[in-house]
Amino acid sequence: QPVVAVVGRPNVGKSTLVNRIIGRRQAVVEDVPGVTRDRVPYDAQWNGRAFTVVDTGGWEPDAKDRAAAIAAQAETAVVTADVVLFVVDAMVGSTDVDEAAVKMLRRSAKPVILVANKADNNSIEMEATSLWSLGLGEPFPVSALHGRGSGDLLDAILAALPEAPTILENRPRGPRRVALVGRPNVGKSSLLNRFSGEERAVVDSVAGTTVDPVDSLVEIGGQTWQLVDTAGLRKRVGKASGTEYYASLRTAGAIEAAEVAVVLLDSSEPISEQDQRILSMVTESGRALVIAFNKWDLVDADRRYYLDKEIDRELRRIPWAIRLNLSAMTGRAVDKLAPALNKALASWETRVRTAHLNQWLTALVQATPHPVRGGRAPRILFATQAGVAPPRFVLFTTGPLDAGYQRFVERKLREEFGYEGSPIEISVRPRK
Ligand code: GDP
Repeated sequence: QPVVAVVGRPNVGKSTLVNRIIGRRQAVVEDVPGVTRDRVPYDAQWNGRAFTVVDTGGWEPDAKDRAAAIAAQAETAVVTADVVLFVVDAMVGSTDVDEAAVKMLRRSAKPVILVANKADNNSIEMEATSLWSLGLGEPFPVSALHGRGSGDLLDAILAALPEAPTILENRPRGPRRVALVGRPNVGKSSLLNRFSGEERAVVDSVAGTTVDPVDSLVEIGGQTWQLVDTAGLRKRVGKASGTEYYASLRTAGAIEAAEVAVVLLDSSEPISEQDQRILSMVTESGRALVIAFNKWDLVDADRRYYLDKEIDRELRRIPWAIRLNLSAMTGRAVDKLAPALNKALASWETRVRTAHLNQWLTALVQATPHPVRGGRAPRILFATQAGVAPPRFVLFTTGPLDAGYQRFVERKLREEFGYEGSPIEISVRPRK
């Protein structure tokens, strides 16, 4: 269960806020020096999502090194938290102690939500904007006592929490599902035949099997794979009208049913519109992707020159796809297929730790901030990985990002974390 730590100076209203979040009058303890409430966890729930709130009040600040005291006690709670609510008193504004705590929060690289508590009315809420100076982005004005703003705050907490594990991650380990696709005559059946000796048809296997009758289990690189819609690869579709449409539906269906797609291209011919359509089907479906340049035995120096140019031009949008140069006929590089599939699937299911992600992001936006637009530059507050297969990220920002800057973030994200063979999705959630 994800953990939300509530930290802040004494008397900023942490306990009241915790009570507001857990929705019951259970733990109203004032910040009385000497009363120990160190890291008391409470169960909370909002919109069907359960999480733990950790209250960090009760510490006794030493007059001599108050700053050190707050840093130490907050740090303990922060280390184990997924999200930190940093509470300040909107009526007081930021203090030296607040600033010392901010430094520590920065180092932790945890997502921090800045809560401006005691914003009981509009004028205090207006003043709360001065808390921007803390460098934690826009403050959330809340009145823990009266409930004002607490719904928005809870929404923000949920958005910042790591996503609950998906069913996919709990899926029993069976053979991975692969779609072998490409326009007619690129060599799909020929490549399949390379593996057919080891093939086991599953059409007549017992009832209750999860393997679709049109699929088959194939050994590739000493590993069993579920090749989706092998029936479509075998039955040679005639040239009657309507078959292209039918073939394209079949291709789309195979990709949808697969986890990773091998798109076969004919290296001896220019990359065509039909090839592009199939590649788009894969990227739009969010599947992992290996591009196999088949018939490599036909590629001479001349063809190679033009092919490189075509690749630059036609595959510009998908530089992350894994590319193989193989020949179903001679068997060249066919043994590279299984490692490529495994690599693409590993990227597809990569999960990055929130702390790691935010450490990286903090450095990135410091080095290259968003360009100023209309006198203001939107800031990225923090990021979370919202899911896998493919990796999906949510950037929490103070405003919409330029498309160019978003592409820059994606490019840098790939440079840092790889994702070779997998698409990644980035969405931006500007704070209202
Ligand atoms: P499919 O329609 O994608 O299943 O393509 P096929 O496997 O039927 O192959 C179409 C044609 O390309 C056949 O004549 C194959 O012999 C030929 N072919 C397939 N792979 C290769 C290859 O690697 N090199 C060469 N030179 N020809 C190939």
